Amino acid sequence: MPRIASVLLPMPLPEAFDYAEPEGLELAVGDHVSVPLGPRTVRGVVTALRDGVGGNRRLKPVLNRVDDPRLPANVITFVEWAARYSVDVPGWPLAMALRGLRHPPAKPEKAVALTGVQPGRMTPARLKVLAAAQAGPLSAAELARQAGVSAGVVKGLVDEGALEPVLVAADESIAQPDLTLPAQTLNPSQKAAADEMADMLAAGGFQAALLDGVTGSGKTEVYLEVAAAALEADPAAQVLVLLPEIALTQAVMGRFEQRFGAAPIEWHSGVSPPRRRRAWEAVADGRARIVVGARSALFLPFTNLALIVVDEEHDGSFKQEEGFIYQARDLAVARAKIEGALVVLASATPSLESLWNAHQGRYRWLRLGARHGTAQLPDVHLIDMRATPPEPGRWLSPTLVKAVSLTLQKGEQSLLFLNRRGYAPLVLCRACGEKLKSPDSDSWLVEHRYTGRLVCHLTGFSMKKPEACPHCGAKDSLVSIGPGVERVEEEARYLFPDARIAVFSSDTVFDPAGARALVDSMAAGEIDILVATQAAAKGHNFPNLTLVGVIDADLSLRGGDLRAGERTFQLLAQATGRAGRHEKPGRAYLQTYSPEHAVLQALKAQDRDAFVEAEMAMREEAGLPPFGRLAAVIASGPDAEALEAYVQTLAAATPNAEGVEVYGPADAPLGLVRGRRRKRFLVRAGRNVDLPGFMAAWRARAKIPNSVRVTIDIDPYSFL
Ligand code: ADP
Repeated sequence: MPRIASVLLPMPLPEAFDYAEPEGLELAVGDHVSVPLGPRTVRGVVTALRDGVGGNRRLKPVLNRVDDPRLPANVITFVEWAARYSVDVPGWPLAMALRGLRHPPAKPEKAVALTGVQPGRMTPARLKVLAAAQAGPLSAAELARQAGVSAGVVKGLVDEGALEPVLVAADESIAQPDLTLPAQTLNPSQKAAADEMADMLAAGGFQAALLDGVTGSGKTEVYLEVAAAALEADPAAQVLVLLPEIALTQAVMGRFEQRFGAAPIEWHSGVSPPRRRRAWEAVADGRARIVVGARSALFLPFTNLALIVVDEEHDGSFKQEEGFIYQARDLAVARAKIEGALVVLASATPSLESLWNAHQGRYRWLRLGARHGTAQLPDVHLIDMRATPPEPGRWLSPTLVKAVSLTLQKGEQSLLFLNRRGYAPLVLCRACGEKLKSPDSDSWLVEHRYTGRLVCHLTGFSMKKPEACPHCGAKDSLVSIGPGVERVEEEARYLFPDARIAVFSSDTVFDPAGARALVDSMAAGEIDILVATQAAAKGHNFPNLTLVGVIDADLSLRGGDLRAGERTFQLLAQATGRAGRHEKPGRAYLQTYSPEHAVLQALKAQDRDAFVEAEMAMREEAGLPPFGRLAAVIASGPDAEALEAYVQTLAAATPNAEGVEVYGPADAPLGLVRGRRRKRFLVRAGRNVDLPGFMAAWRARAKIPNSVRVTIDIDPYSFL
């Protein structure tokens, strides 16, 4: 009986296409195949097979099978689920799942092997070679080295037929975790949490846990033991750990290496294509038992995934905002469901969504209430910048300056935290008042002194800082407004000329190795003052760091989107949580112009529960997540009229659905980006509404003009 293969292509197409299975090819679901698409030949994956020959138009045949490891059926299910959830085409998540295959497989290596033929003339040198070759194929050079003879001897044996050239697979050995190494002795609350999760693993099937422990309580130690339990219980089990930052990946890789004697597989955008290929294959065939990576590791071809850990689960970086839009925390739970695995969400400041799920009993709630050992949470002080302002043109208040000097005197380390890259966030002309903007975009240019350039952080546009105002032509009239980390560094150097000062931001640290070097030198005490953006504020463990100063605690409260309070609390609790993680007590100072704000009061009192309760009440009142669902439509285009006509048509086509409210269209706060105007709708729905279904149906009701691009963002984090 002839069969039809549904082939999904990693491209923006609405569904899988049907092709005929040629006789004798014997395809299976998950096979990689080449198929014709119009005039082109493209690669895809077989997602289903059924008997039949198609309708009255003959189907084109599959051309051939590509010899790559099969995509597991669970990954196909996951890709389809993710596409539906994100209201996007399945080709995008498929492309993510195939990312490791872009690089060709490692080529087999040339070697020589014994044939059994005896050479005509035997010499002591030849005997040594034949003896060394007993162990199996080796490269000619290696064989000569092992036998201690010249290359000519080996060549002579090949010429006489005693050895023959063969191809062997490239070395793909992957270090395996050593489960006999001793575990860290857990303290009683860590042990209780680890035991409970080990029991959940033993029970099997999909389960979820929220590992909720203050900074420094030892959450990492706990999930290392849960990973050990998973790997021990099943010799084929695989473990995935997701982290929000590449810099953190490095630190956690190190902890796993220490615990299991072998480095896990690493997966993120900084990993080279050949290593990605190797990682992908090792995950697919089960040699990779532990993977540590960024959100995209969720799409790897695990065949026996037993445990997913999402560390710093509250972190906004788990939301991918470009290309295929998804929230990795939610997809991690979905993948665990498909795999029948345990998912552990870990954080000191969990998202309100996860806290709500824990509260409702959907996630097992495991709390670690205290820091490990004698370490205490830092004392948090608020500095009222209205009462004790810095000197004009400066950014550190006298109170903070004094605290830093005291810390320096004691030989301890300080972290000055400001979540803003560059030197100054705004450049203004003193003569005409013009603020320098990115061309064709609603975005200020940020001054970077290290490079002498003005940079748009939104579009990547940059230019040399001009000497005259581009608007009025006045010379030397441009002034830098406000601080970024580079400016704080400048001030710190001026105030503490003898201190060793370093800056940690994405402008000073470009890759994982650089991040690791800086983190190591901080941990080794080679830096006195670290000026850092959020890249350094999370997760890290610096034993001698006892002071954290937050330059602008109000920064992320401005703008006031729905998560502003939550995000500020999380970020500052993380940043202040870097201080005093070992024996020495820590202090944190938050500079603020609104010390009475509920978020700052909660940080000072270290009362997360009160903050969460107040925030939850407010969200419930307004029907916002986690009590309701949100989605956004962003339409953009260079032609203002066509865009306006489209959003009006879309508005008029809004389906009538119970429990759904649609707001808009409105000009987006970022109304212009790269010459494209932007409009937004916001949709709010009850928890029981199928919001992806509603959005898909709505979008289908209005034809999208060629010049307009429409993006649907389920559970938006950015409202720009
Ligand atoms: P978290 O992930 O909760 O921020 P970590 O796991 O990084 O905390 O632990 C903080 C510090 O305490 C680390 O230096 C860690 O090695 C140490 N620590 C935590 N638990 C233990 C333990 N049971 N025994 C020894 N050291 C521990």
